[in-house]
Amino acid sequence: MRMLIWLVLIYVGFKIVKGFLANRKAEEPPAKKDEEALRDPVCGVYVARDDAVIGTVEGERIYFCSMACLEKYRDQIEQK
Ligand SMILES: [Zn+2]
Repeated sequence: MRMLIWLVLIYVGFKIVKGFLANRKAEEPPAKKDEEALRDPVCGVYVARDDAVIGTVEGERIYFCSMACLEKYRDQIEQK
């Protein structure tokens, strides 16, 4: 019978520790605060700086959602 009590105590202790670790994880911010949303000038979609395709057009750094949009933008500039 004593063995069973110990098993219950170990189980409860394990659950408390597990819950504590889960809470600590939840306190961490889900995303970096400096992760800026940048607007794709071609399709108007907002992209995170880390996910963006960076295109240098006429010496300016412009962020796009995909290579397709970057190419479209370059075509538009050339047509002017
Ligand atoms: Zn786009």
